[in-house]
Amino acid sequence: AARSALPVFNGTGTTSDGHRVPLLANVGSGKDARAAAEAGAEGIGLLRTEFCFLGRDTEPTIDEQVAAYGAVFEAFPGRKVVIRTLDAGADKPLPFLTDATEPNPALGVRGFRTDRTTPGVLARQLEAIAAAAGAHTADVWVMAPMVSTAEEAADFAVMCAAAGLGMPGVMVEVPSAAIMSEAILSRVRFASLGTNDLTQYTMASDRQLGSLAALNDPWQPAVLQLISATVAGASRATALEPAAGARTVGVCGEAAADPALAVVLAGMGVNTLSMTPRALSSVGVVLASVSLEQAKELSARALAAHSAAEARTIVRSRLPILEELG
Ligand code: PEP
Ligand code: MG
Repeated sequence: AARSALPVFNGTGTTSDGHRVPLLANVGSGKDARAAAEAGAEGIGLLRTEFCFLGRDTEPTIDEQVAAYGAVFEAFPGRKVVIRTLDAGADKPLPFLTDATEPNPALGVRGFRTDRTTPGVLARQLEAIAAAAGAHTADVWVMAPMVSTAEEAADFAVMCAAAGLGMPGVMVEVPSAAIMSEAILSRVRFASLGTNDLTQYTMASDRQLGSLAALNDPWQPAVLQLISATVAGASRATALEPAAGARTVGVCGEAAADPALAVVLAGMGVNTLSMTPRALSSVGVVLASVSLEQAKELSARALAAHSAAEARTIVRSRLPILEELG
């Protein structure tokens, strides 16, 4: 039988009625960034900077960092590149920064928290990011991982300003940050939902344990509620202080690479979706098959579900294009 012609992703994330949701890439090196540009990413939504630090006994020099980040910025001239500061600890241990004897590394000194125990590393990284950004035309945004409070967001904004970086943001990957998103987004310009950790911490289930995969599912209604709360908090923060510009909320966890869940996220009001470059075309095609109204309706249905399985089944059954994608 003749296969029906699939809509082809044209490299611009939109719903069928033209609501824009830029589709960005998660990358971890200059090589990744070049591949992402070839795959049609509109920009980078998550540059994991650990690549520059892992497998070393000492901190990379500022010059080494400038070269590494510059290679990524170079691949996206004039485009948005969201760079995340070092996320050491837990699943990403670093000998010179993290304590291997912590009893609960996932709940320990990781991400932005390492700035308390080893001050200086983050400030030097921000200096390197600013220098690399200054040498390229990419629109560089900087975000801190594992932020739990509005005070931490404020501290990060001060550090970014000191380095001359004008677009500070935070990852929302701890439930407290999702709940406090209005206060947090009164202090920084944007948030990016890290659904891998947000799911792990919401469900209290280790993201590395296959035996807990059913709990560790971003379709869990509790996780969806926190994502929705984050978007609502961002809108309130914008309304309170419109002169500071709209606070945007992106998603850069694996959830954004699931085409059905990507539609739900767009319907919730998430502004950008960042994913592994492999997923760009299927997410783009499925997003283009629904109107914004339909996406909102699917979000409402997912949010009202009582289980991850129910949410997933309800949404998938209303996206016939998924069958064509296989
Ligand atoms: C996340 O937690 O969803 C995320 C994008 O960060 P990482 O997977 O690097 O922890
Ligand atoms: Mg994370």
